[in-house]
Amino acid sequence: MEASRYDIVVIGGGPGGSATATYLARAGRSVLLLEKEHFPRFHIGESLLPYNRRLFEEMGVLPALQAAAFPRKFGAQFHLGNGSKSVKFVFREGRFTREPEAFQVERAKFDHLLLQHAASSGAEVREGWTVNKFTSARDAVTIQARDSEGTSHSFEAAFLIDASGRSNVTGNQEGLRVIHPHLKKLAVFGHFAGVRLDEGEAGGDTIIVRLQNKWFWVIPLSAEKVSVGCVMDQAEFVQNRESPADVFTRLWQSSQPLIERMANAKLLGTLHTTSDFSYYNRRYVSQRLLRVGDAAGFMDPIFSAGVYLAMYSGKLAAQAVLQSLEAGDDGERRLRAYEKRVRSAMQSYWQMVEHFYTTPFMELFFAPREKFKLASAVNAMLAGELEGPWTLRWRMRLFFWFVKVQGRWPFVPKISFD
Ligand SMILES: Cc1cc2nc3c(=O)[nH]c(=O)nc-3n(C[C@H](O)[C@H](O)[C@H](O)COP(=O)(O)OP(=O)(O)OC[C@H]3O[C@@H](n4cnc5c(N)ncnc54)[C@H](O)[C@@H]3O)c2cc1C
Repeated sequence: MEASRYDIVVIGGGPGGSATATYLARAGRSVLLLEKEHFPRFHIGESLLPYNRRLFEEMGVLPALQAAAFPRKFGAQFHLGNGSKSVKFVFREGRFTREPEAFQVERAKFDHLLLQHAASSGAEVREGWTVNKFTSARDAVTIQARDSEGTSHSFEAAFLIDASGRSNVTGNQEGLRVIHPHLKKLAVFGHFAGVRLDEGEAGGDTIIVRLQNKWFWVIPLSAEKVSVGCVMDQAEFVQNRESPADVFTRLWQSSQPLIERMANAKLLGTLHTTSDFSYYNRRYVSQRLLRVGDAAGFMDPIFSAGVYLAMYSGKLAAQAVLQSLEAGDDGERRLRAYEKRVRSAMQSYWQMVEHFYTTPFMELFFAPREKFKLASAVNAMLAGELEGPWTLRWRMRLFFWFVKVQGRWPFVPKISFD
């Protein structure tokens, strides 16, 4: 059987795959995107970052997203579980933050819009197709996939984009996945009616409630529907031998800020449970292959950066591939440059996530100061500023240095989780 030939094959139609396919198809390249599910399908990851908007604009999908009337997110609130501390970041108030607002999205609808946009941009999208295996050689990549009837097919492409999310298709095939030893988490979440939100603009905020070693998110999806989830250590969950529903209820009922919001909440549908292990692949690229989004690395979702990183890496992957196709080579040097840039972007959030679970970080986080404009620097990071100027980067370094100092010689009030 002769393989069908494309410039690029993309595995996965989540935000990373759709973004990459859109950029490539809009540049006139032949793109085949294979997605194993039929959309719309449920997916978790509902709070977006303001800087995502620039990518929506470039891709030409912003009008469709605006027409979908997703709730607007102007800020993020963090509360200590016992209600003793809270802090709120409003994006437009940050001196280095260049995008003032984001969307909160139901992923079934959002991902479907992006996938349809990739198709209308010229990509060939096939749903119900599962990629099993790839082989790369000097001149081309061969991809084996199964259609929804279970029939096997073979495709050939100049480049392969792996945007298969946490399925990590090519990273697993090459044995590249490294799991973070201290971030082996589990998430329990669902959609609820009757959750109390703030009045006015703040009603669209993401709300994070930090308990000892665990945290809750509250993300408004519409006037009637709010996503609420809890992230905790998987080992602790297994040890406690409680059902996900029992542990979820027990935990929110132990926290004043959550009781205030959840007292009248009613679960819509089912409560979901998923493992939430942070990991990265030792390499983000292989011969003629680039991994984007979660297929490059996944981190605990506390700062809601996953969708943005998936689309941002998708854009950079598309650029590297387009230049390589233009040059008619395998793009080895450009692929390495891609890996370096994406790793550095992901590293900024890894650093934030790792520190989030430490008490000195939370102490400084709950005591934001505009001295040295550090609160503004954190605000920009929370909004998705990945390529800020040196003036921002040295402030973030200083912030983490202060976190270290706080651990040894506390200079802002200590916090207690009791
Ligand atoms: C509990 C939790 C909460 C989160 N909260 C947030 C949040 O608030 N904000 C945020 O930005 N991010 C959040 N995230 C992260 C976010 O979900 C991901 O980072 C984001 O979806 C990554 O996009 P992606 O395109 O890389 O992968 P995905 O969105 O996972 O898309 C991958 C696609 O590939 C398809 N696929 C997989 N294997 C194959 C195969 N073999 N063949 C063909 N297709 C395949 C899948 O069906 C899927 O559609 C959260 C994650 C978790 C676990």
